[in-house]
Amino acid sequence: MGEYGTPSSIIKCTLSKVKFPEVCPVCLDEPFDLVPITVFERKSVARPPVTRADIFSSGPKPNFGRQEPETQSSVLFWIPACAAHMNIVTIKTKAIGALGFFILFYPALFFALAMIRDVRYGGNLLFDLVIFLIIVTVTGGLLAFGFMPRSLQRAIVFDGVNRGENVVLLRIHNDEYRRLFLEQNQSHADIMA
Ligand SMILES: [Zn+2]
Repeated sequence: MGEYGTPSSIIKCTLSKVKFPEVCPVCLDEPFDLVPITVFERKSVARPPVTRADIFSSGPKPNFGRQEPETQSSVLFWIPACAAHMNIVTIKTKAIGALGFFILFYPALFFALAMIRDVRYGGNLLFDLVIFLIIVTVTGGLLAFGFMPRSLQRAIVFDGVNRGENVVLLRIHNDEYRRLFLEQNQSHADIMA
């Protein structure tokens, strides 16, 4: 591991001071605009959450979840990116993917059953097969569009953020971008083990 770490190195940075380099994290081109990335807050980024069951018993006990009501807040990061790499997976794209799946599930099932009927009783198997494959392909495309992380979200992966501790943990895939990021945040960013 060099001075600037590897793609899997976890970088710990002061949340209030984090600043992203003025280049695209994917291709290092000049940025076109800022892309908002929402990261949901974790109770603590330093250790896994401790439950009451963990505290009051030594043996394994059923975990009833956390006792105190949890308000999960989020932190918004603005990341400069080029025009080609600006699109990201959001709640909206996920909703489109899920909606597409639910709308197309029954037609797919219908044509799958039609194919079984064609085989048993004779019918236009080829026609039903083609329609079925088209529906499955469209559904797969919508799911990929909805849920597959975009290149920007693979370039910078947020591993956790905590306002109380003023910490953000992230991984940066591109070596050059990671070097730029660490230089720009050198007084308040470190590579963890
Ligand atoms: Zn780019």
